[in-house]
Parts: sequence; C-alpha cells; structure tokens
Amino acid sequence: MCAKNIDWSNLGFGYMKTDWRYVANYKDGKWDEGTLSEDGTITMSECAGVLQYAQTCFEGLKAYTTKDGKIVCFRPDLNAQRMIDSCERLKMPTFPEERFIEAVRKVVDANREWVPPYGSGASLYLRPFMFGINSVIGVKPATEYQFRIFATPVGPYFKGGVKPLTVRISDFDRAAPHGTGHVKAGLNYAMSLYAIVDAHEQGFDENIYPDSATRTYIEETGGANIIFVTKDGTVVTPKSDTILPSITRRSLMYVAEHILGMKVEERKVRVDELSDFVECGLCGTAAVISPVGKIVDHGKEIVYGMDDMGPVTKKLYDALRGIQLGTMEAPEGWILEI
Ligand SMILES: *Cc1c(COP(=O)(O)O)cnc(C)c1O
Repeated sequence: MCAKNIDWSNLGFGYMKTDWRYVANYKDGKWDEGTLSEDGTITMSECAGVLQYAQTCFEGLKAYTTKDGKIVCFRPDLNAQRMIDSCERLKMPTFPEERFIEAVRKVVDANREWVPPYGSGASLYLRPFMFGINSVIGVKPATEYQFRIFATPVGPYFKGGVKPLTVRISDFDRAAPHGTGHVKAGLNYAMSLYAIVDAHEQGFDENIYPDSATRTYIEETGGANIIFVTKDGTVVTPKSDTILPSITRRSLMYVAEHILGMKVEERKVRVDELSDFVECGLCGTAAVISPVGKIVDHGKEIVYGMDDMGPVTKKLYDALRGIQLGTMEAPEGWILEI
C-alpha cells in the first residue's frame, strides 16, 4: 500500500526519484544477471556511444492500483517487444522479453509505496531505457550497454478537467521513409524539440506530422498516435510504416472493434479529408486519449469541438481506463498483476 506522503492528485508529469531502479549491463556479448539499485545516477566515459552518437532507445508504461487494491501493469509484453524492435534498428543488443517483464515486476514491487492509490488518477510511470556506454569515437555501434528501468509517480493527465488540444499541421518532418520513425529512439525526440517549441510559441499544443515524402497523409504527433471518428461512428487510424506503433492506439482499436462493436479502419488518411471527421484524439500511455478540439492546417481551421471529449472518444477512453483500473474485464493477457 502507498505510504508516501504525496498529494497524488496534484502531481504533474515530472521526475521524482524513487527508491529502487533496475540495472543490467551488457559486456563481452552478454547481459549480466541484473540487479535493483538505489543509485539514480550513472557514471560513464565522456566518449560513451550514447553521448556522441545518440545510441539509445526507451519505453514508457505505467503501474496502477486497481479498484480492488491490486497493483498492475498494462501489456508490458508489448513494450518488451517494441524495445527489441528499437534495439535491432539501432544496432543494440536486445533485452529478452521474459527478462524485461521480470525487471518491470521487480521495479514495481520494490517501489510499491510509490504506486498511487486507486481513485487518485495518478500512476507510477516506468521508464525502461538502454544506451551505449563504452567509448566510441569512430562511428560504429558501442560494444557495452546498460539497460535500466526507473519509476516515477505521475499525476492525473486531465487535472482540472478535459481541455481539448489545438494542434497544427507541421512543416517540419518527424520521420523519413525507411528511417527510424517506427522505433522509440531518443533521437526522434531530440530533433522534434525545435518543432514543439516553435508550435508552443505559435500557440499550438502539438504538431501533427504529415508523411514527409509527399506531405499528403496524416501520420502522428511527436509523441502520440491519432484516431479519428467518422460521421457514421467508424474509428479510423492512419496506416504508415513511419508511425511509432502505440500500444494505447492498438489497444483502443481492439477495444473499439471487439468489445464495443464499433467499425474500425486502419488506412491512409489524407490531410484534405480531416474536415470529414467529427472527432479526433491523440493516443499514448500518458493520457490514454487526449481530445483534439481544433486542427489548423496553414490557416485553415478544422474544428471538432473545444468543450469536452466527443461521445465516441469518451466511450473508448472509459473502456480502456476501466480495463486498466480493473473495473472492466480485460482481454486475456492484457493485465500483469505485480
Ligand atoms: C511512445 C510513443 C507513442 C505512444 O505509444 P504508447 O505505447 O501508446 O505509449 C506514440 N508516438 C510516438 C512517437 C511515441 O514515441
């Protein structure tokens, strides 16, 4: 049970050092046995591969307290698998799925007091990451790596109510064809900072990136996938090889189709059909779904509604939250009890 003296419902999304993190080291072609550590700092060569050539990738997932007081994680196997894909693309060693899940278990279990209580809206955010740690000056993959998972409590996303976002169609690119847009690499975020700061300066919450080859199709934002709802209630999500496969978005599409009996489509979505939709939301672990109230495409405004979540978005949101918090039955294998 959580014993920490924290005002959970007023927590933001920031780093707070918790007691334990998991650390494993890769050397001479293999991972060591891994351990929990109280040390939240890392010492490495000034020439470490991660510092010079950004050889790093990460994951993000949460631990929650359910209605009946269990501590659970949502589909960590998919985070493990996605991290394997990221590592392969970045020429890093993979961390096996069973070990990843075991490490998640250990970190959450060791930090049980940091898991916010049911009803607070807060959760314990887990950040698995891996990076090249030995010195690399000629451009090549590192030979030694560190894998870590730390935990930090984060507050409710919709503190003070749901405020639909205003987003713009970006003139910057996020992901090149055959590039790294489909993997969770730190480098994708480094190069998106210019675009997000610029968006904020221009009064927008987020950038929606069109495909960088033709600028014709919608892809995603800097850190969330997108779903749309058509007039007849079909849930549509863009299909592209350069979108990061969000676990939240894949889960929402499954819930829409198999639990809520909605029609779903994963297909190319043109920028010029945005005004045909009636709802739009951004999906990711942080918010589940964050409604988009308005998209601005170079001065042309597409308005979905600035009051609240649309009815379909709300249904999807409630269902996925219900599954995560144990008030709705989860599909087989989606919930890992710690
Ligand atoms: C992490 C991430 C998402 C969201 O993925 P979830 O698994 O749902 O948290 C979406 N887009 C990008 C670019 C991301 O890095």
